[in-house]
Formats: sequence, structure tokens, C-alpha cells
Amino acid sequence: MIKLSNGDDAECLYVNGRLKKKAGYDEYTQWSGKLRGTDVIDLQVYNRCCGYAWGLDVIVDDHTVYHDWAGTVTSYGANNNDGSRENQIVHAVHFRLGSPPTPPPDDSGLSSQWCGKEPRIGGNSTSTKRVPRIKLVYAYPSDRPDRFQQYAQLIQSDVQAVSDKVRESSLGLKSLRFDTGTSCGRRYVNVARVRLSKPLKYWRSGCARGDRLYAAAAEVKRALARDRKRFPLGHAHPLENYAIYADGFFGGRCLEAGIAQRSQDPLPAWQNRANDGGYVAMVNGGGEDVPRSGPPDFAEGEPVWYRRDTLLHEIMHNLGAVLNNAPHATGLGHCTDGPDLMCYDDGNGSRSWQTYPCEDPSATLQLLDCNSDDYFDPYGTLRDWRGRRMWNTYDSVFMCYVRTCTRNLKPPHARVTVGARTVHVGSAVSVSASGSTAGASAITHYEWFLANERGRARPLRQLNDRPSAEIRLTKAGIARLAVRVTDAYGSYSVAWGAVRVVRASRAGMRQRQARAIGAR
Ligand SMILES: [Zn+2]
Repeated sequence: MIKLSNGDDAECLYVNGRLKKKAGYDEYTQWSGKLRGTDVIDLQVYNRCCGYAWGLDVIVDDHTVYHDWAGTVTSYGANNNDGSRENQIVHAVHFRLGSPPTPPPDDSGLSSQWCGKEPRIGGNSTSTKRVPRIKLVYAYPSDRPDRFQQYAQLIQSDVQAVSDKVRESSLGLKSLRFDTGTSCGRRYVNVARVRLSKPLKYWRSGCARGDRLYAAAAEVKRALARDRKRFPLGHAHPLENYAIYADGFFGGRCLEAGIAQRSQDPLPAWQNRANDGGYVAMVNGGGEDVPRSGPPDFAEGEPVWYRRDTLLHEIMHNLGAVLNNAPHATGLGHCTDGPDLMCYDDGNGSRSWQTYPCEDPSATLQLLDCNSDDYFDPYGTLRDWRGRRMWNTYDSVFMCYVRTCTRNLKPPHARVTVGARTVHVGSAVSVSASGSTAGASAITHYEWFLANERGRARPLRQLNDRPSAEIRLTKAGIARLAVRVTDAYGSYSVAWGAVRVVRASRAGMRQRQARAIGAR
């Protein structure tokens, strides 16, 4: 059997020179037939422009004998093909079954072992600087020991496992992008270490209402902002969500494995609020009985897969799972068609009753969206219970094409021009980012921000997607404008412009008043 997967534009499978199967734009398909070792297999990926990915698997007697997935391309070509030409074959393989070629080595995956120097609070990631990412945090109460060294390895292996799970659930195409890069290289997670300001007792009270999620999130964000000094666009740059390993939060009356903020925006487009960043997921760790060393499994007594599924479950909430209008939604952020990472009886009466259409008696695997119909669909578009298109977490900016997840791809270069140096309060200034240039892939969208004198930026959502705009300025002082330019890989860069906003002079006002009176 030969599996084909294609992002853009077409992928053709030939056996002995005859076309056997074609995968068009955004198509996944397979071909089954008898193959002999002498048969010549050719695969060609054709790209008109701006493609993303392709994949090819050859499976013989249930064994994968050839695997060449998620090739990635730049704005015009792939594999360093001539970027100035359009309409070309961007990837081609030619082989006999007896001797399949070796696909290029993939060194972009995460290592199974953690390595790095003791991080500063914020850490200094090296490989995910200008891409949306999930920032890992180890946080501990003020009166507890810092067990970062003990848990760094566990966090690395959890992140590797959940990344693999997402990859396997997305036909090998995508995974989650975590903040990676330590002194050892880019295949290691960059974990911030935060000592919280309050003792264990505080964190063990009020746990049922989720207050402590917000309290801990606020502390972590403050600590990171302090350490990095510059957070020029709030959480929009660096664009990140947070996954916190909260040491000691589990125990006493606080018996939830994890908790997360969730976005409930159904908009099926990149402007979805879940793409704004700033969301927090938390995995709660135990440690009451062994205060010095902490439980070796962090979560105290839970199986390893359960802790990892908790991490991924909470992260998926951050990315927008499960919307209340999904076909099998409980209405409280979960689903009812399992076994599924996001499905369980969360106590919303009959809406939470569970069914098991995807049950596999041989495994206890929690699927990432059983039947791909509620929150994660690598095949295309999700529809709500009424049949309308809705947000698909597969399209989240925190997902990445697997070969790009730990890589610093060349980001676009943002440039901004401002139409005037000085304007009057209440008047508009024209701004343009059309001078920005593409990096490793084509520019896909523009977002505008307006910052006050203290540097607090707020997004100007109504201008989303426009390379140039008119911005009305209503406060006197220096207005700082920023544009974030993003490309097809999710890489971005930010450019700033400034304009002085002054009150109209008295003479000018009098003149205008006189004109207004004269006109009456
Ligand atoms: Zn949940």
C-alpha cells in the first residue's frame, strides 16, 4: 500500500511509468496494489507556488518500508529549488521496492533526554524566537524546594510524547511548537523556572474554582516579563501560550490533575482568538509525602500516560477545544464520543453522557479527536452541529509542520512607513507595511497594534489582514504603531513606527470656529 498526502499543488504516483494515483490540493489518499521488487516507483510533487507539505509512505505487509513525510517548501520552491521559478517539480523520488532510497535525515524532532544549563527565569530560547510557541514553565510554592533539576527530564519526555501524539494524529504533518533551544541545542525544551510568591497552603486553598490558575498565571507572566525586560506587544510578542508544571498543587482537597483556560471562539480563520496567545494550561504535581525529593512521577501515583494526556488535554483547551457547538460537545469544553483525549463525563447532565464509537478493544489509547469531527481535523474543515464551518485546532498557530517545529526559519522582514510625523488629536494617519519582504515562505497576513507612551500595546483588530491602513489617533503624545507580519510557516517579525499627536493650536481652532460660523 502506498499512502499519499499532499498540501499543495499535486502529487503523482507512478509505477513503471504509469500514473497510478494523484493527490490534489489538500488531499490524502492511498493506492493499494501488488508490487514486485523490480517495479519502479516514481513520486513527483508539483508545485505552482506557495505550497506547504507532502508525504509518501510505502507499506508492505503492515511494515512501513519507506517514509518521506512533511516535506516543506518555501514561497515558490522546495529543497532549495530555484525560488525565482514557478510551476516546477519540487520533490521527486525514484526507486525500486528492493532498494528504497533513504529519505533525508530528520533532525528536527525533540530529543528524549533533556540537556541544558540551569535556566534563568525566562530562559533564552534560541530556536523558536519569532514563531508562536508554547512556553513551558516549572513553578513551585515559596516554601517548597526547587525541584527543577529533578523534573527537567520528565518535562522533556512529556513534551516529546505529546508532540509525537499530535504528529501521529495529523497524518504525520503537524505537531505542537514548544519553546525549544537550550545551551545544548534546539532539540531541548526551554523551561522557565518560577518561584511563586505564596506558600503551599495558599495554593491548596480555593482550588475548586480555578482562581489559583489565574493567580499562578499572573505570577508566571509577571516573572517572565520582568526577566525578559521587553514584552513589547504584551503576549502578542513573543506570541506564546504557557504550560505550567505546578509543583505541589495536587493534594489535600485539590485533586484535579490539570486545569486550563479555554477559548470559545468558533471563527474558522486565523483571526480566531485562540491564536492571540496568552492562554495558560496547568499540570498539577503532588509531593506532600516526600517534600524533599518530590514524587518521581511528579503527579504522584498517576500512570505516566495519564500525566502526558493531561498536559495535552489542557493545551488543547488553550487552542480552542472543545467548542460548545461541536457535534459531540458536553457544553463544558469536552466531548462525548470516545475514547478521546478531550471526552469525559464532566457533569453537565445528559449532555455529558459518553459513547465509544472509536473504541479499540486492544488499546486504551485516548485519541486526539475520535472521528476528527469535534476539534482536531487534519483532513480539512470542521462543522458544528448545524453544519456550519467552525474553528479547527489543526489550524492553530501553535501547530507547526513537523520539520519546522524546532527550526529557526528565516522570518519575513517587517517594514512600516507612517504617512505623517505629526498629526492633530482626532485625525487619522496612514500606515503601510507593504514594503515588508518574505523570508522562508510567503507573507500571509498583517496585524496592527497601537501602543501608549508606557509601551502597552493593544491590537487594532478591525485592521487585521490589511497591509496598509488609516489609524485615527485620539490621545495627545507619542503614538507608537506596530505591525506584525506573518508567513505561511507562522514565522513573524514586528516593525514599529511613531507619530506625534498634538492638540490643535488655539489660533487654528479659532480659525476653524470662525469658518464654521461663517458657513452657517
Ligand atoms: Zn478539560
